[in-house]
Amino acid sequence: MNNNELTVQCCVCRRVRDSKGEYHQPPAILGDRVSHTYCPECARFMLTQIALFKDNFAKAEAVRVRSAG
Ligand SMILES: [Zn+2]
Repeated sequence: MNNNELTVQCCVCRRVRDSKGEYHQPPAILGDRVSHTYCPECARFMLTQIALFKDNFAKAEAVRVRSAG
């Protein structure tokens, strides 16, 4: 691996993106230049988590507003 190449790594599952945009288990040693992103699977999972969080937050906020009123 060329050390000057920017390695793009999923910050959740740590897999590394290749030139075709596919994700693979990382080599033992990564280059010096690593950028982090979400792979499609982890992005989907995180979006689900965010949607759940927003839903729960909205419910909690509704209860708070009602009990404050
Ligand atoms: Zn991932």
